[in-house]
Amino acid sequence: MKPAVKVAITGAAGNIAYSLIFQIASGNMLGKDQPVILQLIEIPPALGALEGVVMELEDCAFPLVKGIVATSDINVGFDDIDYAMLVGARPRSKGMERKDLLLGNAEIFSAQGKALNAVAKRDVKVLVVGNPANTNALITMHNAPDIAPTQFTAMTRLDHQRTLSQLSTKLELDHTRIHQVAIWGNHSATQYPDVFHTLVDDQPVIEQLDMDWIEKALIPDVQTRGAAIINARGASSAASAAVAAALHMHDWALNSAQPDDWVSMGIKSNGDYGIDDDLIFSFPLVCRDGEYDVVKGLEINDFSEQRIRLTEKELIEERDAIRHLL
Ligand code: NDP
Repeated sequence: MKPAVKVAITGAAGNIAYSLIFQIASGNMLGKDQPVILQLIEIPPALGALEGVVMELEDCAFPLVKGIVATSDINVGFDDIDYAMLVGARPRSKGMERKDLLLGNAEIFSAQGKALNAVAKRDVKVLVVGNPANTNALITMHNAPDIAPTQFTAMTRLDHQRTLSQLSTKLELDHTRIHQVAIWGNHSATQYPDVFHTLVDDQPVIEQLDMDWIEKALIPDVQTRGAAIINARGASSAASAAVAAALHMHDWALNSAQPDDWVSMGIKSNGDYGIDDDLIFSFPLVCRDGEYDVVKGLEINDFSEQRIRLTEKELIEERDAIRHLL
């Protein structure tokens, strides 16, 4: 048996965590041979609900779970961790301005960055799910100067999976035959799902799609899918977000199920494709051996360039609103 790794999850009594924790415990994220110690973090008012989640976890008697910590102290929850799943975030309340949401979360994530810097392993892999995820990840990274910037990521994997699913329905093909989908930019309504480089088996897919469908159906449907789920379900996506979070960390830590296929992750920009290098921006990446590389040298047409610049602009505005916390 491998030694256990420590996985912290914030917002551990919330909806996404209610699915995510059980995926991690059953080995779906880090492998069926990887024991885990779960370090579950909640704000004090939610500790009672977290106790119930812990009881359910205990009742499953998962063979891979070697320990459970439930706490509201982030210095305890992040102690010596290998993985951080930052799911908890202040929700948007009625009448709240976008700037207030950014600021409220900025304070939470700056404190979490400091705590990670103080007590987590130096090679901790951090995934921010709580919205606004890209900017929350940027704040976390800036507040953890002793951990390499490559270790801070934001989730755009659900958007990536949604794009695969839309293509698979449109083309009436199994989605495992579809490769090289990309999500660029912010996890928000400005994100840009790019199918200009997408292959079915090894053939370009763009020849089978019309621009009208891409512009009027695919892109807006992916961008607004979260709202459509809220309308239908009366609650936001939780299980699919949890699956995407587990896939993101799985592929980063252990490689994609389809080696060398692209994944989309918000990472610190290195200036590739001319993107401002102080942003957490989603790029197409290939994961290998616990690391990732941006797919380089793609030809970006005017249609894509315009949309990539728009989502970059939004992220710069978000960063400007919380500049004092960087
Ligand atoms: P969820 O578990 O449903 O969502 C958690 C976060 O994930 C939200 O910010 C949500 O954004 C975001 N998210 C990112 N991608 C997606 C997606 N594709 N679909 C849906 N959500 C997505 O929220 P709950 O309110 O159920 O749980 C949050 C928990 O966090 C609560 O238990 C609360 O106590 C805790 N919390 C922790 C804080 C902290 O750590 N300091 C602060 C505040 C709360 P969006 O809101 O845009 O849907």
